[in-house]
Amino acid sequence: MTDFLSTGSLPEDYRDLALTVRDFAQQVVAPVAAEHDANHTFPYEVVKGMADMGLFGLPFPEEFGGMGGDYFALCLALEELGKVDQSVAITLEAGVSLGAMPIYRFGNDEQKREWLPRLTSGRALAGFGLTEPDAGSDAGGTRTTAVLDSGEWIINGRKQFITNSGTDITELVTVTAVTGTTGGKKEISTILVPTSTPGFVAEPAYNKVGWNASDTHPLSLTDVRVPQENLLGERGRGYANFLRILDEGRIAIAALSVGAAQGCVDESVRYAKERLAFGQPIGRNQAIAFKIARMETRAHAARTAYYDAAALMLAGKPFKKQASIAKLVASEAAMDNARDATQIFGGNGFMNEYAVARHYRDSKILEIGEGTTEVQLMLIGRELGL
Ligand SMILES: Cc1cc2nc3c(=O)[nH]c(=O)nc-3n(C[C@H](O)[C@H](O)[C@H](O)COP(=O)(O)OP(=O)(O)OC[C@H]3O[C@@H](n4cnc5c(N)ncnc54)[C@H](O)[C@@H]3O)c2cc1C
Repeated sequence: MTDFLSTGSLPEDYRDLALTVRDFAQQVVAPVAAEHDANHTFPYEVVKGMADMGLFGLPFPEEFGGMGGDYFALCLALEELGKVDQSVAITLEAGVSLGAMPIYRFGNDEQKREWLPRLTSGRALAGFGLTEPDAGSDAGGTRTTAVLDSGEWIINGRKQFITNSGTDITELVTVTAVTGTTGGKKEISTILVPTSTPGFVAEPAYNKVGWNASDTHPLSLTDVRVPQENLLGERGRGYANFLRILDEGRIAIAALSVGAAQGCVDESVRYAKERLAFGQPIGRNQAIAFKIARMETRAHAARTAYYDAAALMLAGKPFKKQASIAKLVASEAAMDNARDATQIFGGNGFMNEYAVARHYRDSKILEIGEGTTEVQLMLIGRELGL
């Protein structure tokens, strides 16, 4: 089997990083993945391992405790982790691209100094609180409010499905809130809410179909008071700023999805060579070989799509359409490959202890989170002027 990293397509430093993360994923993540999935437990020891390797600081400059890498480096790490355990990969993705990145992109010097070193070191996690019971795809439907009173924001509202919002090391959630109206339109801003603030409650975790070892909670905010200085970025620019964060995040989710899609290929190739039926390995049947060939094709095509989007982003060029395309094709590749891999594994594919069964449950959310498939199509259509 030719592994993509062995083709020489990537510069050496990127390839070395990917190989280091691959090694970590196989040695540290894989052995405990099924157990955390079955018990719905957050993998603190794995997160500490990723923190010790500097993964939470990958795309940030050293002055903020980062590794001085870039967003593509983060994507490569997510691909390798996503092959083995999507819960671990999404914990890193959300911690970096949704937790720390809004502060790096839009924070003032004081906010960066206060929060980034803890977040980039992985000692603390931050969540990204955009979705509400009545504001998902239509994120502008935000109902949470923040009212200025004597130099403090008083925040009231509810958020739902917020990743990394209730772990023992979660210290912050950045929330969107309506801070007024301008020209009859809602003015949405983003505000930093330390999780220790009275009135902030991470309610009991959801019972999810997959991503069982990732931390997801509904949040309630009742008369939460934070200093006026906790406004992140310009007042009224919160929605626009979050959309920029989501554009980037889609490339990261695409990378994670490619990992899942490739993980299904790798597992299937191995199984198809070992499993005997009718006196021969099942992979000798062209029906199985073609299925796996198509899976490999999907994974590779999706990889080129996220590489393309990341290259444009790093070059400072427009990348919105390419990020949506990458997210769309990669999430569908993951779901399609997970379904095919489960079929190739037969009855074993329906047993939770097998990685492909976990990918089957985990992959569905890739077509939903950080913008559903329909939202990606809407964005691509808009970029085409439709
Ligand atoms: C495990 C998990 C983790 C998450 N983590 C976070 C997080 O950290 N932070 C955060 O803010 N959010 C998070 N989310 C929320 C996620 O981003 C939303 O669930 C997602 O954006 C969809 O919103 P919704 O659930 O309200 O669905 P809805 O917006 O209600 O959509 C329902 C269906 O209608 C479709 N639809 C909606 N509008 C249109 C339209 N105009 N045209 C065609 N179809 C349409 C959608 O595509 C979808 O199929 C998470 C969700 C999950 C499940």
